[in-house]
Amino acid sequence: MSDREETIHLLADAVRRFAREQLVPAEPTVEETDEIPGDIVRQLKELGLFGMTVPEEYGGLGLGMYEEARLVLEVAYASPVFRSYFGTTNGVGTLGIVNDGTEEQKRRYLPRIATGEMMASFCLTEPDSGSDAASLTTRAIREGGYFVINGTKRFITNAIHAGLFTVFARTAPKEAGAAGISAFLVERDTPGITVAAPYRKMGFRGSHESDVIFENCRVPASALLGGREGGGFKSAMRSLDHARLHMAAVAAGMCERLIDEGRRYAIERKQFGKPIASFQLIQGMLADSQAEAYAARAMVEKAARDKDAGHNVTMESACCKYFATEAAGRIADRMLQIHGGSGYIKEYPIERLYRDVRLLRIYEGTSQIQQLIIARELLKQVGA
Ligand SMILES: Cc1cc2nc3c(=O)[nH]c(=O)nc-3n(C[C@H](O)[C@H](O)[C@H](O)COP(=O)(O)OP(=O)(O)OC[C@H]3O[C@@H](n4cnc5c(N)ncnc54)[C@H](O)[C@@H]3O)c2cc1C
Repeated sequence: MSDREETIHLLADAVRRFAREQLVPAEPTVEETDEIPGDIVRQLKELGLFGMTVPEEYGGLGLGMYEEARLVLEVAYASPVFRSYFGTTNGVGTLGIVNDGTEEQKRRYLPRIATGEMMASFCLTEPDSGSDAASLTTRAIREGGYFVINGTKRFITNAIHAGLFTVFARTAPKEAGAAGISAFLVERDTPGITVAAPYRKMGFRGSHESDVIFENCRVPASALLGGREGGGFKSAMRSLDHARLHMAAVAAGMCERLIDEGRRYAIERKQFGKPIASFQLIQGMLADSQAEAYAARAMVEKAARDKDAGHNVTMESACCKYFATEAAGRIADRMLQIHGGSGYIKEYPIERLYRDVRLLRIYEGTSQIQQLIIARELLKQVGA
């Protein structure tokens, strides 16, 4: 094992223990209070998790995709809300800067993001533009050395905590389509930004999503990501390509947790004088789930390694996100079924995990959008 592999191995081990010994016991508190305790946030920072994707020269861990997936698989054993707190910041909230930012933008933001001092949100979705992101209507009009942004962004994760927003806005008329979209790095204290109260959701308590409204928000031209107009949509898609593998790793980590919950209950619970785990119909649910969880993990690891090797993994990332998140949904359903009536009440974690896992098939590209990407790439291979 190389020194690097050894370091990552030790870090993954530390994250694994942290997830199981600290995060899992904190889940009921997070559900109750809708907040992640300050002590846990401090430990997430100490582990360096806010800097996973930030290159080492800017103070981060500079992880490759496979290394990142390994850590995410471990942390996602606990409620996905913990991952959401740092993962959005250094996922879609930061990747635009890492991939496309100017040197000045990298130096200004990445060191603070890496330590967790500054959180970052990704502002793409709008009330009338979701899956069809290229139809967004937020405008950024150039006025001398400034741009003036007007528009509303919807469902923005961590907006109430964020110090920085990557905002996608149209700098050319709608007819220009995706090519008319630019990205801006907008600091929270810029006049003209309103962050609405967080939405009340089905699950993911402890994670906060709000609308962010930009009204005559004036930003200097230096806020334009990469210093050039028209590259915003491409940058967003590149970030989402990465985020899909990250999200597939979240789903694969959750699969393991869900199966552990189902297996534990199946061994404890007795009916007809025996543990229900001895019934073959229960075993069938466990076996189907384990096979799918194994496949999800193997897919993520393979695609992550291929990405690190420089291959284009657009199709594979979409396959991973699609399969792993759908599998996690099926597994959550089976594990809840194994709990019987107890699965439907709030005493057992499965009720909460079942609600939480539902989101994974929707955000960062719905399952249907993943299917479209897979088919598009597949047809492209033969020039169709
Ligand atoms: C909790 C949460 C957090 C989020 N965080 C963020 C964030 O931080 N930043 C951000 O920018 N966005 C965020 N989002 C938005 C999220 O990415 C979108 O909700 C998602 O992309 C789907 O868009 P939509 O809700 O507008 O659904 P729509 O696009 O309206 O889709 C509705 C349905 O139609 C289907 N559909 C749409 N087009 C097609 C098609 N061509 N073919 C077949 N089916 C289709 C969809 O799959 C879906 O089933 C978040 C959402 C949630 C719920």
